[in-house]
Amino acid sequence: MSDIKRSCADCAAISCHKGDGNYPPFCLSENMDKEFRDKAVAKYTGEELKMMQVAAVVECDGYGQLTRVQETIDFAKQMGYKKIGIATCVGLIRETNTLAKILRSHGLEVFGIGCKVGEVLKRDLEIEPRCDKTGVNICNPILQAETLNKENTDFNIIMGLCVGHDMLFTKHSNAPVTTLVAKDRVMGHNPVAALYTSNWYYTKLFGDEK
Ligand code: SF4
Repeated sequence: MSDIKRSCADCAAISCHKGDGNYPPFCLSENMDKEFRDKAVAKYTGEELKMMQVAAVVECDGYGQLTRVQETIDFAKQMGYKKIGIATCVGLIRETNTLAKILRSHGLEVFGIGCKVGEVLKRDLEIEPRCDKTGVNICNPILQAETLNKENTDFNIIMGLCVGHDMLFTKHSNAPVTTLVAKDRVMGHNPVAALYTSNWYYTKLFGDEK
């Protein structure tokens, strides 16, 4: 369709990374208003500048060697975070038990909160009754966030919150949030596997519009 607004989502060149100058005609980097860019860059100050600096060091020092769990610990330590919140899906509680042990073994304090906390019924939020087949209680991401806010955690880890619940948790969390596990009940919580296989085995991911 000709009315599609092209963006980095359509790019195969990634010349902004390679530095080879072969920008596509719609390149956001090439065509960007410099003042707009500079205003955004000027926002990296204080704690957020430190996050950028630490993230870069974690990336370059552990590149291709550290797992995401190790990188998360490394990042927390270099940022000086002491108390880690975990917002977990109850379906991943065993993995969260393990994560808590690992974090504590690195001297970090842990406070976790399961998604069904508060035991609020789906019917109380006027959720469609057929959704009771996966459990009568809601996942409760706002209550998870507010509990971790009350605990004054330094940063929070998402462990497999559902699509949508993760958005609400992130929106209501006072502390910065990172996702360790992105829930995918079909792909072993590895959503990108569906993309890797979508050109042949998993073509059903595509809709009708070209
Ligand atoms: S900034 Fe330009 S080169 Fe980089 S990904 Fe976007 S379109 Fe591609």
